[in-house]
Amino acid sequence: AQERVFNFAAGPATLPETVLRRAQSELHVWRGSGMSVMEMSHRGKEFKSIIEKAESDLRTLLQIPSEYSVLFLQGGATTQFAAVPLNLCSPADAVDYIITGSWSDKAFKEAQKFSKPTIIWSGKPEKYTKVPSFEALQQNPDAKYLHICANETIHGVEYKNYPTPKNPNAVLVADMSSNFCSKPVDVSKFGVIYAGAQKNVGPSGVTIVIIRNDLIGHAQESTPIMLDYKIHAENNSLYNTPPCYGIYMCGLVFEDLLEQGGLGEVEKKNVKKAEVLYNTIDGSNGFYKCPVEKSVRSLMNVPFTLEKPELEGEFIKEAAKENMVQLKGHRSVGGMRASIYNAMPLAGVQKLVAFMKDFQARHA
Ligand code: PMP
Repeated sequence: AQERVFNFAAGPATLPETVLRRAQSELHVWRGSGMSVMEMSHRGKEFKSIIEKAESDLRTLLQIPSEYSVLFLQGGATTQFAAVPLNLCSPADAVDYIITGSWSDKAFKEAQKFSKPTIIWSGKPEKYTKVPSFEALQQNPDAKYLHICANETIHGVEYKNYPTPKNPNAVLVADMSSNFCSKPVDVSKFGVIYAGAQKNVGPSGVTIVIIRNDLIGHAQESTPIMLDYKIHAENNSLYNTPPCYGIYMCGLVFEDLLEQGGLGEVEKKNVKKAEVLYNTIDGSNGFYKCPVEKSVRSLMNVPFTLEKPELEGEFIKEAAKENMVQLKGHRSVGGMRASIYNAMPLAGVQKLVAFMKDFQARHA
């Protein structure tokens, strides 16, 4: 059999080995159905049982209150950048955006087409290394929602708690693409949570939206049917053909997370892995540096630079020789980035830090 590598990619990203093996064992014929999940009618009882189990396991994992809907959609988190304003406000409405990195910036830019968004805080002058203090935020008193990116995949900035919208009728909206299901979250604090699956919970092609029911049914007139939450909520995500196989894979991942003891246990493992890596960076006497303010460093995406940037190519090359891949930072920021999502085992991080220390000893 071909050996697997430690894949530090930001997404699509590494998936749990057990889940891949399970999918492999059921690929050809799914549990007595006589066919693969890829071949099933999305309206048949078999697929219905798959999507219902996926939803119910996700509800258990995140303890999603009953007044919230769970939608399995397509189009990536990028489509949600448009769907959120289209569904939650009118074109003339004010909405607030906090910009902590590239992804919240993209969400803001898309919202300009469908609403009147304001950037109420931007971390750009400090190269996206911070989350603002919530007290000092100048929120728009009539903003319909406050949008955040809970974890900036490129810059490695993660909220550890969340701001409250100033307008009592406004809701908090979060892009959780890159930290979805990595830790417990109090869903009741949010109006909408959305996430592409391809980092923590499955293959690309599935986008999960968790939305409070009273926010459904107010889409702008011109909203394309595929972007209208009401259509998907009323049809249990089966208005048209959903990404069936991807949803099945997400379901296997949710089962695996429950078997691990739920998101509290998962968070403990993620904290441990991140500690090992950040301690190595901080203990390297400046050979490695993480620019992000300590209190908001991401448990999922760890960006770091080398004191001698000319060694970056060598670092990547030698790591790859030891079966550790996809460590190059995003093209917009350079340096390195290790994404250590749920499915990255502690052993992978330990191997990475052993390599980093050895590399430093040879090149310092
Ligand atoms: N938001 C965040 C935080 C992301 O990391 C990404 C993907 N890297 C996106 C949005 C865009 O997601 P998609 O490619 O699924 O549209």
